[in-house]
Amino acid sequence: MSRQTLIEEVTIPPKSNSMSSSPFDADSFNEAVMSTYARFPLALDRGAGCRVWDTQGREYLDFVAGIATCTLGHAHPAMVEAVTRQIKKLHHVSNLYYIPEQGELAQWIIQHSCADRVFFCNSGAEANEAAIKLARKYAHTVLDIDKPIILTANASFHGRTLATVTATGQPKYQKYFDPLVPGFAYVPYNDINAIEEAITELDEGDYRVAAILIEPLQGEGGVRPGDVAYFQKLRQICDETGVLLMFDEVQVGMGRSGKLWGYEHLGVEPDIFTSAKGLGGGIPIGAMMSKKFCDVFQPGEHASTFGGNPFVCGVALAVCQTLETENIVQNVEARGEQLRAGLNALAAKYPNYITEVRGWGLINGMELQADIQLTAADIVKAAIDEGLLLVPAGPKVVRFVPPLIVTAAEIDLALQAVDKAIASAIA
Ligand SMILES: *Cc1c(COP(=O)(O)O)cnc(C)c1O
Repeated sequence: MSRQTLIEEVTIPPKSNSMSSSPFDADSFNEAVMSTYARFPLALDRGAGCRVWDTQGREYLDFVAGIATCTLGHAHPAMVEAVTRQIKKLHHVSNLYYIPEQGELAQWIIQHSCADRVFFCNSGAEANEAAIKLARKYAHTVLDIDKPIILTANASFHGRTLATVTATGQPKYQKYFDPLVPGFAYVPYNDINAIEEAITELDEGDYRVAAILIEPLQGEGGVRPGDVAYFQKLRQICDETGVLLMFDEVQVGMGRSGKLWGYEHLGVEPDIFTSAKGLGGGIPIGAMMSKKFCDVFQPGEHASTFGGNPFVCGVALAVCQTLETENIVQNVEARGEQLRAGLNALAAKYPNYITEVRGWGLINGMELQADIQLTAADIVKAAIDEGLLLVPAGPKVVRFVPPLIVTAAEIDLALQAVDKAIASAIA
């Protein structure tokens, strides 16, 4: 792809001093930092809009956005303004006191969703932990269940803490960490009969299903959209049984799906839902939202030192307001259609390699044939050479989650790079 055309459109930020003096040394990095991640061999140094530059000054189109997180891309003026304002004004005081920014952000979320209440924390896993704890207390105090069970889906992803990795229906993330947290059971995604059977079968002695925790679209598990009929049936079952319906909107929420919340695609509202990734546009924030009838927490029963501090809430509020004032969710829908049309054209061009393109808004997956050697990581590596950052969602799905401000021209450039990346990966 032509990097010249990219560079013309944005002001390139100055190269940082720390990096210009000596080249990035991956070996000393790996000596110092615990090896929990398999990293691609590039070190990123600066960004603007949908582009980032590595420490060598090479430019990339960023279709990862910090894993579906940098809602407004990099160095967005609204974020720069909010970060600067908050750090000068007040950044952290703890929840021993009222924090006006926290109240304003909660009110924004409530005005723009089905929620009545918000609890703030720092990540997606923590937001789901809060939902799990709330569901358990609700089960004990309202549903009168001694041993509550939370149902989650196979191939789901809910985080890496002990409870959320237990909730995550992927054994590969649980290996070596047993004993896992009790009180979880798994069902296939988008399978109505399986849910009904599970609720009946698990009702035994002191055990009973108290809640269902599920993603409106499975992100990390392969970009699999929820089925409308399935989710409507879930809502109906929960209404009939009192089981709490909890949606994990950590990846799909905050406009990424082309609607503000993923559940809007499914025509149902959850009792509880969680958000994190896109909520702060890249500053660490998580939130759990609930309906009024789930108000069971008393002061002291759940907490977070950093949760909802003035800094993160001030910035997240700026992100939320910018989504609205710049009509970004409409852009997501249009750019998503453009991206899927282009990816479908590539699927037609490479029928022996690509089986399906699917997604909502700007969370899309391109699935590769199961019975060939080519993996999503192969495509991602080849795309890096073409100046495009992508991320796998499992071994066979390439995930496209650019900043929500991505332009039509950038989508076209990305599609050209994907075409070249496929061609070189299969050569
Ligand atoms: C990323 C993700 C999480 C975990 O969020 P962290 O901020 O990494 O803890 C949970 N659920 C979903 C759906 C996610 O995509």
